[in-house]
Amino acid sequence: MFKKILIANRGDIAIRILRTCKMMDIKTVAVHSVVDESLMHVKFADESVCIGPNKSSDSYLNIASILSAAELTDADAIHPGVGFLSENEKFAKMVIEHGIKFIGPEPRHLAMMGDKVVAKQTMTKYGIPTVKGSDVAIDNISEIKKIADEIKYPVLFKAVSGGGGKGMKVALSPSEIEGAFKLARSEAKANFGNDAVYMERYLMKPRHIEIQIIADSFGNVVHLGERDCSIQRNHQKLIEESPSVVLTPKQRKEIGDIARRAIKKLGYVGVGTLEFLYENGEFFFMEMNTRLQVEHSISEEVTGIDIVKEQIRIAAGEKLSIEQKDVTLRGHAMEFRINAENPETFMPSAGKIDELFFPGGNGVRVDSHIYNGYVVPPFYDSLIAKLIVHADDRDACLAKARCALDELVIDGIFTTAELHKKLLQNKDIISGEFDIHWLENNLRGL
Ligand code: ADP
Repeated sequence: MFKKILIANRGDIAIRILRTCKMMDIKTVAVHSVVDESLMHVKFADESVCIGPNKSSDSYLNIASILSAAELTDADAIHPGVGFLSENEKFAKMVIEHGIKFIGPEPRHLAMMGDKVVAKQTMTKYGIPTVKGSDVAIDNISEIKKIADEIKYPVLFKAVSGGGGKGMKVALSPSEIEGAFKLARSEAKANFGNDAVYMERYLMKPRHIEIQIIADSFGNVVHLGERDCSIQRNHQKLIEESPSVVLTPKQRKEIGDIARRAIKKLGYVGVGTLEFLYENGEFFFMEMNTRLQVEHSISEEVTGIDIVKEQIRIAAGEKLSIEQKDVTLRGHAMEFRINAENPETFMPSAGKIDELFFPGGNGVRVDSHIYNGYVVPPFYDSLIAKLIVHADDRDACLAKARCALDELVIDGIFTTAELHKKLLQNKDIISGEFDIHWLENNLRGL
């Protein structure tokens, strides 16, 4: 097993990884930008290194600086966390070249799934159903119109190197094709440095259902059931739950087995998530995330499995400690993302937290890095806390979430907690009748 892991991340996810390392008796190194010096992950780690100025590109995305920190502290593995360099092939390769273990999949799988077109082609080859589309990157308007006629309107342009919902534009009819295509291209270029886009049918009432998988280097693959992440704004997840109210045990087993088979054929090693759109009983693969996800915690709650622990064990060359038959889903879990944002305009809300109280009690978990007096900096992701609630069934889970949100105090800045309170009173949320467009369509009436 590793002796010392450097955690190349910040915030709640850095603390989440630290906790498991401590329980596994592994020493930890925290890295941080200048402004993050007083963050909790820095305090909790055995050692810490400042890796640069506040801008992410100078610190958390600064490969040379992170590698120097690992060498300096003699870390034998790097956990990239979520976001930042976690799906960066070049980073993974360089970590390996320095004789340090990258806690993630092989670089070739990062590259393969990082290209959305290649990812779709690969999954199709392994028998996974995908959304109908152009199958390749496209740039010729008349060709695009021809394909759009075939797959039927509305269509969606997506960035080949996309992520976080950026670079996506819908065209409802042929007259909108050119405008949507150009916008998608320029957004893709601005966000990912690559203007290549592809096209697929835009589904009108799908749910976002994703399957968590864990695979070791001995060919063992398990899935931990699904997460329903349909409550989204701007293609960004806001509430996630497991299990989904729409899947039957038979469907869960079917899609889980399909995912496991594909992962086995890929020879993929590590944790990962296959994201699907689900409409009228059918699954359509969208993309695979080759890392830990923000919402991994709800799968941990319903399965009782520490996903980070399995991830570290697998990276160290050990066998999965569980088989598929050991995985049972117990009760219902939901995660509410508390973002430092105005709950009406969704503008980021940086500033000082001058009063803080986190809810607690049986089945209430808060993964967060904030504390009383903490100043939310304007430089990073707006996620400041994840409220995770687990109960015997969905109704009890909703009730527990209402209590927990009533107890939660974060004063001094705006957060999405107020929006969650409203959502928990809404009849569609209570009945579970929503799709990925529901929040955008219902925000005004909440
Ligand atoms: P990203 O890498 O930006 O997260 P995804 O492919 O995962 O991109 O898509 C993000 C979100 O965009 C999905 O969760 C879904 O809400 C929406 N989306 C993606 N593809 C489609 C589609 N074909 N039809 C309708 N919505 C889609």
